[in-house]
Amino acid sequence: MKYEVILYYKFSKIDDAEAFCTAHKAFLKELGVKGRVYISDEGINGTLGGTPVEMQRYKDFLRSLKGFEDTEFKEDAHETIPFAKLICKVRQEMVAIHVDGLNPEDGGYHMKPHEWRSVMENRDDYVMIDVRNNYESNVGHFEGAIKPDVENFYDFPQWLDEADIPKDKKVLMYCTGGIRCEKFSVLMKKKGWDDVNQLHGGILNYAKEEGGKFFKGKCFVFDDRLVVPVNKDNLEPIARCEITGKPADSYINCANMECNKLFVCSEEGAEIMEGCCSEECKASEYKRPFDAENAFKPFRKWYNYFGDDFKERELQQQ
Ligand SMILES: [Zn+2]
Repeated sequence: MKYEVILYYKFSKIDDAEAFCTAHKAFLKELGVKGRVYISDEGINGTLGGTPVEMQRYKDFLRSLKGFEDTEFKEDAHETIPFAKLICKVRQEMVAIHVDGLNPEDGGYHMKPHEWRSVMENRDDYVMIDVRNNYESNVGHFEGAIKPDVENFYDFPQWLDEADIPKDKKVLMYCTGGIRCEKFSVLMKKKGWDDVNQLHGGILNYAKEEGGKFFKGKCFVFDDRLVVPVNKDNLEPIARCEITGKPADSYINCANMECNKLFVCSEEGAEIMEGCCSEECKASEYKRPFDAENAFKPFRKWYNYFGDDFKERELQQQ
């Protein structure tokens, strides 16, 4: 494995986010790595890919900054860099929930992966919430978790208001790397749930530490890989190809650029429909030429066809 992919976030107040971002971007450019970094006045949220040496230099750099000394990184090895370019910019919110005043310090108990596993093993009385979007939980989730049918993280507050979860229940929540729980746990506590627990470091950390026990399917990630394995003992896809109906967990964007729908599709399905989600899209004049070799690199394709800002609201989420 030639490259390392890192995922990280750190809530720590930044006085001048613009200046912080400019300096950060200069360092990253000089280093020559790719990925996405978002900076706001409440901290930093990023995912980057490069050689292990480059990644180490970046980690050292970030940890040398005041307030970021104890930033934790989720690391994964990969044969290629799963990003087309480097994006480093200031954002209003580190992760977009569209609710003001949610301070991560008021969040739930950070459950360590081994504690999480043991709570699941003991079948304690709890309700478990998958704090990710439907297209993420669709290809992988913890056994018994509630999977809200939402397309954006900022739909979660409304979902919670309608979900009817008893306030006296023990709540377990998880997301990919932990950042969404840092906001959602605060919201739940504010709304009256007391026993709120969040998986520290998210699914990716749990996969590393506990081998992914009780996790079915794979973990959706916001880069060219799209899904990564979690439970090494169970790599069976849990989703189905929307074209052939056979088990699959690879995603593709509809080749009709006007549609661009993200859907689960097998290689066989992609061949049949030339990368489209429907016959209608297949007949569209805005259909990209089908390229079997690159059909499953949807995010890179987005960049190629639409430039930086396309679908960025989704890309910023971890
Ligand atoms: Zn389509």
